[in-house]
Amino acid sequence: MSESATQTWTPAGGAFWAGRWRTTTPSLDVLDPENGRVVGTVADCSVADVDLAVRAVAQAVLTGDPWPVWQRREALHRAAALLVERQDSFAGLVSREGCKPIRDARREVQRAVDTVRLSAEQADRLEGRTLPFGDTPRGENWLGWYTREPVGVVGAITPFNDPLNLVAHKVAPALVGGNGVVLKPAEQTPLTALAFLQLLLDAGVPADRVAVVPGRGAGVGAALVGHPRVDMVSFTGGYATGTAVAARAGAKKTLMELGGNGAVVVLPDADVRRAADAVVDGAFGNAGQNCLSVQRVFVARELADALIERVVDRTNELVVGSKADARTDVGPMVDDRAAERVESWVDDAVRDGAVVHAGAKRDGTYYWPTVLTSVPAGARLLSEEVFGPVVSIEPFDSVDAVVTEVNGLEYGLQAGVFTSDLDSALDVAQRLRVGAVMINDTGDFRIDAMPFGGSKRSGVGREGVPFAVDAMTEPKIIAIHRTPRPG
Ligand code: NAD
Repeated sequence: MSESATQTWTPAGGAFWAGRWRTTTPSLDVLDPENGRVVGTVADCSVADVDLAVRAVAQAVLTGDPWPVWQRREALHRAAALLVERQDSFAGLVSREGCKPIRDARREVQRAVDTVRLSAEQADRLEGRTLPFGDTPRGENWLGWYTREPVGVVGAITPFNDPLNLVAHKVAPALVGGNGVVLKPAEQTPLTALAFLQLLLDAGVPADRVAVVPGRGAGVGAALVGHPRVDMVSFTGGYATGTAVAARAGAKKTLMELGGNGAVVVLPDADVRRAADAVVDGAFGNAGQNCLSVQRVFVARELADALIERVVDRTNELVVGSKADARTDVGPMVDDRAAERVESWVDDAVRDGAVVHAGAKRDGTYYWPTVLTSVPAGARLLSEEVFGPVVSIEPFDSVDAVVTEVNGLEYGLQAGVFTSDLDSALDVAQRLRVGAVMINDTGDFRIDAMPFGGSKRSGVGREGVPFAVDAMTEPKIIAIHRTPRPG
């Protein structure tokens, strides 16, 4: 067991707003999904708490001290450096309250360092332009420009599966853009969010511009989304929740990062071993609890046997075990209900003819990495987001039919295409209706600076640091009507 895996951290309070840590009654226990043990306790905020938090942040943004761009840049650079210093503690927290084995939790912390650093660097891009008033007669005697201004108060809502980096992806771009942020982290993983808040305060982010209000989605989340002083909602979570959030937000600006069902296309000239290894990595990391998780693999019929064999061999090598053990590849699902749901979807498919090649076994919150073929049309495993460690492999004879099938899915986040032919790669990539296509890798790849989001049920708008900063700022024009020269 590594040292960081056992680290704990106790926040100075269970919530934070108006520059102070708060405690509430009742409170929320945070449980380790592996064994149900209490890892910590945070506030279970009320609707009234959300109102206080939002009003405090709104006041700071509208009438508080100005926070110049150079200070934002410096504070976020310091935050990135502090995250490096505290990486063991953060990795321990991410792993204990979440589902990630410690090795993966350490990777998430590294990603978050990048996210915060990239956000600091965006300070240089908060620039406007002069406006081309001379282009039309109406603009005669006018002179003006626009600058990029904060939207105001960003209400941020995050899921449990990347407790640190997804928080960083909302909070850091919002702050560098000059906004205030009220964050509602997932009820399963609020401790990492509170630790990140403490880090921001230590880095010099003004305490009145940030608030964290842990609590339940239907209460705290809905109150935040509907609050009249929240100018923009940045949400990451499931499609059903996203739909409820959009309805409640009404005419507010929203950014929605929702689910996926990870298609991969393996063309006849692909490197099978490379494709199989990437499928195993992409399907079972974080026990499949990843919006980019590989869920459906379409393989050219002539490669199917070889691909299935290697995927199964590699899957059987995975170590399912305790998150604290550095050898563990696959940890638990977030709770019993999630593991039971995946089990029931697999059982239904098997009852209707699916063939199990690996896994299909549950023990408490653990669900074993599962490889299926012959999953019947109509199975939920094919059309919905599994969000668990299950991959279905389907041989195909026609590339056109596969493209039609993938484009007919309700989600369209990212996809992968394996081939050794550039023309085929580009042909399929251009025809797939998804947010990104990775060639010779699965869709489970992202750098934190790229535009991130999808089509259809996968979301609205794009995150990724520079794109989030754009979304969280707006052009504001200042124009001067000059007195025309006499005569
Ligand atoms: P979830 O939708 O259950 O919850 C997400 C957040 O929304 C939580 O903080 C929750 O408390 C809150 N919430 C719940 N009901 C709410 C309501 N009525 N109003 C406001 N907030 C509410 O999702 P989850 O189970 O935590 O995470 C899994 C989902 O997130 C998956 O669908 C996954 O694909 C998606 N996800 C998407 C991305 C992406 O970037 N596209 C990244 C990670 C996860």
